[in-house]
Amino acid sequence: MGSLDPRAKTGFPGKDKKDAAKIADEMLAPLSDLQERIFARGRSQPETAPRVLLLLQGMDTSGKGGVIRHAVGMVDPQGTRIHSFKAPTKEELAHDFLWRIEKQLPAPGIIGVFDRSQYEDVLVVRVNNLVPQEEWESRYERINAFEADCVAKGITLIKCFLNVSYEEQLERLRERVERPDKYWKYNPGDLDDRAQWPAFQEAYADALERCNTDVSPWYVIPADRKWYRNWAVAQLLLEHLEAMGLEWPAADFDVEAEKKKLDALQAEAEREA
Ligand code: AMP
Ligand code: MG
Repeated sequence: MGSLDPRAKTGFPGKDKKDAAKIADEMLAPLSDLQERIFARGRSQPETAPRVLLLLQGMDTSGKGGVIRHAVGMVDPQGTRIHSFKAPTKEELAHDFLWRIEKQLPAPGIIGVFDRSQYEDVLVVRVNNLVPQEEWESRYERINAFEADCVAKGITLIKCFLNVSYEEQLERLRERVERPDKYWKYNPGDLDDRAQWPAFQEAYADALERCNTDVSPWYVIPADRKWYRNWAVAQLLLEHLEAMGLEWPAADFDVEAEKKKLDALQAEAEREA
């Protein structure tokens, strides 16, 4: 993973940051059009409507929230469901680790977003020895089977690892303690995770390798440049929605007959005027 450059700008159609806003603007119309088609399908043909799940993982400050604001924020909020997974509650801990995940899968026509996910159970859980090794070792295969099942159910999974560098994370943490408008994002516990950076990198490398399947591949998003990160995730979403080739749902009423009725109503209104 160290070989994947967090500052890369792979595929970006402009030159640098000053082109990012314009390029993002140009993505708005196609993204919201496609999202609305999915939503429309969810309403008219839920059995066959697409379900999309954008899954975001990354160390603190990698920009999971920023991606939600800037990339997911390009589409109608009514068609999205965002869920942040925190440390499990007592009730969640009493169940299998996939129990709380399953409950948040997107409904037909919806773009679901996971801010953290089932992967925490092979990341923070592994690094902090929250369960015995044999337990977390077994979870990679469980996750692969679970994701294959999601795909079989018609869910399009887009798994993104936001790859921020150790150096950039320090800058961002520093900003959080220096700017009063960012205090709320700072959690002293983030430094404990930072102190275990190599162990997290190793755990991420394993998750990315063992759970990079044909039906559910990982995308590694260079995340040291916020504008690139936001563009890259929006572009991935756009490409996945385009690939669905969705038409607008056909009318489930007689269009000509309804037009005639409206014509008659209009004529009546004009007579009365
Ligand atoms: P944040 O996303 O920064 O608001 O923090 C959420 C915290 O919940 C992070 O420190 C995660 O590591 C932690 N977390 C999420 N899922 C799990 C899990 N399955 N087990 C333990 N901690 C978790
Ligand atoms: Mg945090």
